[in-house]
Amino acid sequence: MHRKSVAELSKALNKKDISSCELTSVYLDRIQAHSELNAFITVDRERALKQAQEADARLKAGTGTALTGIPIAQKDIFCTDGMLTTCASRMLANFVAPYDATVIRKFGEAGSVLLGKTNMDEFAMGSSNETSFFGPVRNPWDRRCVPGGSSGGSAAAVAARLAVAATGTDTGGSIRQPAALTGITGLKPSYGRVSRYGMIAFASSLDQAGPMTRSAEDAALLLNVMAGFDPLDSTSVDRPVPDYASTLDRPLTGLRIGLPQEYFGEGLGTGVAVAIESALEEFRKLGAKILEVSLPNSSLAIPCYYVLAPAEASSNLARYDGVRYGYRAPEYEDLWEMYAKSRAQGFGAEVKRRIMIGTYALSAGYYDAYYLKAQKLRRLISSDFDRAFEVCDVIMGPAAPSTAFELGSKTDDPVAMYLSDIYTISVNLAGLPGMSIPAGFDSNGRPIGLQIIGKYFDEARLLNVAHKFQQATDWHLRVPEGF
Ligand code: GLN
Repeated sequence: MHRKSVAELSKALNKKDISSCELTSVYLDRIQAHSELNAFITVDRERALKQAQEADARLKAGTGTALTGIPIAQKDIFCTDGMLTTCASRMLANFVAPYDATVIRKFGEAGSVLLGKTNMDEFAMGSSNETSFFGPVRNPWDRRCVPGGSSGGSAAAVAARLAVAATGTDTGGSIRQPAALTGITGLKPSYGRVSRYGMIAFASSLDQAGPMTRSAEDAALLLNVMAGFDPLDSTSVDRPVPDYASTLDRPLTGLRIGLPQEYFGEGLGTGVAVAIESALEEFRKLGAKILEVSLPNSSLAIPCYYVLAPAEASSNLARYDGVRYGYRAPEYEDLWEMYAKSRAQGFGAEVKRRIMIGTYALSAGYYDAYYLKAQKLRRLISSDFDRAFEVCDVIMGPAAPSTAFELGSKTDDPVAMYLSDIYTISVNLAGLPGMSIPAGFDSNGRPIGLQIIGKYFDEARLLNVAHKFQQATDWHLRVPEGF
């Protein structure tokens, strides 16, 4: 039963072949049995089973939706009423949110079951899930390896079938890169597609929530629930939400796939390059045409992001002062010392590094040289995509330069870690939708992700392209041994 997709389980629940209580228990037991992965920070068994009971009543009454009774894991970045919401930081290790994030509310209204809150990099800063205050997550394909980050707990949970599906957030790659490293499907929607209300802010102009699932079909079912305008988030966009599940089967004949030459140069692992090439061959068979495009400013994406994201983070994280909520140092002499000690003790090393970089880049003497310059670069990077999309419908390439790496192998070298997002970050800077889907394995049996980038608000197209590929291949059905 735990191998089934959202779509299959939804049918079984509606036909009463299984109950949500049974299904939820299966997953709760699996989470417990595989606690060595450290994929979850909080699991509330009672609450989950109570929601499952309510879902069963709703299914019985015939008022269920496609997600009613489906157990879902939520990244621990979404505020959850009455439950711990830690963002994997000591700063929020005791924080119980007094309200639900819009994403949580919407899943609740759809009748899905909240299995628990997943582990992540502290405040979503990282590419390996090693900056978590609660310890690293292990990759179910190889426990010596990281699952990617920052949504590493959600990725590992879906890959190991500890949840039917999960949510993640992506500021520079945190849905797509861990999806690639764990062999699952991850979608970062266009900026503004999903409400950020109650989603703890890292870099507000880049953060976006999306589904992490076993298949594109499941991602469509989750996005149907997540997407839409929210008056509580002024950056959410008021435009109609299509039924993403209804256009999955459109044929790909004539689809124009753009390959950015910059994504296939130095730094790309050979195993990854070979897998991407054979995925493209599959798309040719499905009737797509492949052409070369250029994103000339790609190499500037990482430096641009590492000025803008820390700048926004330094401002967003100013609220953690030990006064209203969160961690407060036990001993201090005066107010200033309380601030200083609470922040020094409450934040981990990577978060402090970002706050320092951001504060520096925004300081009066350097604002023009760094922050303003980076904003200009952001515009150039975004225009590169506009030009590329004049001749193609989607852009494809690798989601990450390498497959899963060993725990500890990049922790001493922040720049090497930052390079994990070399193919994903420009998509956030431009605000475009991007996806990673399973496309093979390297010689060590570690998964490889194919990235598909779309035009603004063209999530339906991405899901359609991914779904057709998944109908023709079985990479997304592979499960790590023992799960
Ligand atoms: N790895 C990138 C960072 O550390 C992206 C993180 C994210 O998307 N949340 O900033």
